[in-house]
Amino acid sequence: MSLLGGGIFKGMAVTLRNFVGSYFDKERLTTKEYAWRTDDKLPERAGDYPKEEAEQLSDTTTVTHYSRNFPMLLHDEGEPMDTVRCVACQICERECPPQCIYIEKSKDKMERGGNKAQFYPATFDIDVSVCMSCQICVEVCPFDAIVMNSQFELSTPDRFGGLLLRRDDLLKSNDYYHKIHPEEAAARDKRIADEKAAKEAKKKAAEEAKKKAAEAKAKAEAEAKAKEEAESAEKPAEAPAPTHTDAKKEDNGE
Ligand code: SF4
Ligand code: SF4
Repeated sequence: MSLLGGGIFKGMAVTLRNFVGSYFDKERLTTKEYAWRTDDKLPERAGDYPKEEAEQLSDTTTVTHYSRNFPMLLHDEGEPMDTVRCVACQICERECPPQCIYIEKSKDKMERGGNKAQFYPATFDIDVSVCMSCQICVEVCPFDAIVMNSQFELSTPDRFGGLLLRRDDLLKSNDYYHKIHPEEAAARDKRIADEKAAKEAKKKAAEEAKKKAAEAKAKAEAEAKAKEEAESAEKPAEAPAPTHTDAKKEDNGE
């Protein structure tokens, strides 16, 4: 018969064993995720934490392809602000439950990738000290412009300013997205390509239908005109109406 609440004591015993053991065996340290650091040392100061993307994207990193942390803004191949996907529609800002996104729309419009000119975010901030990683901003974005990053090391000695991610901190390339979430990024790219192809096919079909309708209209007009001309050619020529001179001649008995 098991003792009521025995599981709690068992759990506490494991905690106690690890707590005491951690003084003698570094394998028991709770911050074991930093074991992938090349020097195998725990960071002592904020400046020692891994900050480079390459280090965070190392094969031995503990972050999996399915993890997510905070949002990032996607840009396509080229200069980040020349190819940023965000058009500053502010839907994500409105839908974010804790209201931690702040966007200012640009005054002018910018052309991207041959598409028609659109607004862009002059300011795009996310306060990650408030963000709850719910991904609602990602779900509502109609332009596939915002997705979740998996960069987990955001520790900073600046509690307020350091946790306010600015537009240029948030900008990441689609290649980076493929590195951290390969399946999700490939599925998203495929959907975008399919939607684009369907839109182009629809546009082409509409143009062809319009062209056919214009040809049919021109043909009908030409037929109606030809019919009208044929009818007028069949009618006998009418005698010309008497002129004023003719009438005068009749009066004079000529
Ligand atoms: S993940 Fe959620 S909380 Fe964070 S910015 Fe997006 S909508 Fe807001
Ligand atoms: S990230 Fe998407 S939803 Fe948010 S402002 Fe940009 S385009 Fe709009």
